[in-house]
Amino acid sequence: MPELPEVETIRRIVERELVGQTLEAIGLRLPKLMRASPLPTLDVLVGRRITAARRRAKVLIIAWTGDLSLMIHFKLAGQLAVLHADGSRHVAGHPVPDPTGDYPHKTTHLIARFGRGTCLYFSDVRQFGWLRLLPTADVEVALAAFKFGPEGIGHGTPTPEELGARLARRRIPVKLALLNQSVVAGLGNIYVDEALHRAKIHPLRPANALTDAELDRLHEAIPWSLERGLEQGGARIIRQRAYPQDGFPQVHARENEPCPSCGSPVRKIRVGSRGTYLCPTCQPAPG
Ligand SMILES: [Zn+2]
Repeated sequence: MPELPEVETIRRIVERELVGQTLEAIGLRLPKLMRASPLPTLDVLVGRRITAARRRAKVLIIAWTGDLSLMIHFKLAGQLAVLHADGSRHVAGHPVPDPTGDYPHKTTHLIARFGRGTCLYFSDVRQFGWLRLLPTADVEVALAAFKFGPEGIGHGTPTPEELGARLARRRIPVKLALLNQSVVAGLGNIYVDEALHRAKIHPLRPANALTDAELDRLHEAIPWSLERGLEQGGARIIRQRAYPQDGFPQVHARENEPCPSCGSPVRKIRVGSRGTYLCPTCQPAPG
């Protein structure tokens, strides 16, 4: 579930709360999360300071003194929490564990302690997330292996023509094409549903059959949906039910609620294996 807005929110938390902090202790309770890691253990980070936090697609990259970087992928259910000794806390990502509850939770797999009692907790109820520790000089090569497409917001976003060229090579449903991280990086189930609804495109339309007008609308709708998510620190979706803020999300996880544009009940269908929400009036079915 963590998509670009959620991971960007996590990145901002690490940047604001942890850059400049020195690691005093680290404990990994689930060693299998270190997947294909060039450096096998996190213990070498003790005594080092966090110098930066950046993001590419849905991967968070935390840089440390001594030219080491920790890559974290949150996959379907990753969550990051930073708790300070004064009781203040900053939590983003998956809603499990309860951000207002006790840490560490039984799904907390990584605990990192910094000075003045500040603690970082990485939790993952599904255990699909991963950690990778490597020399900072090797990060770009590691990222290149993912073949990420352009970012959905910020620097390097695609023009309508570039977006069209990426979709024109794919005859699959546009929803599935947009979930592919090599088309637009950072989009996932929530924000694709929202972008397609705003662009008035049915998710089963073949990606290579969109008109120029539809591509223009989609090009505007992708950053629109990601920005709405980012504004609220990630959309609130708990057990496949949306808790909208300021009307967003408009359709995702809101089956049978009225479409904000036309009032028709929102429908849920399957596209590939993904639960997909749409307005049958605003997003007419293909042919
Ligand atoms: Zn509608």
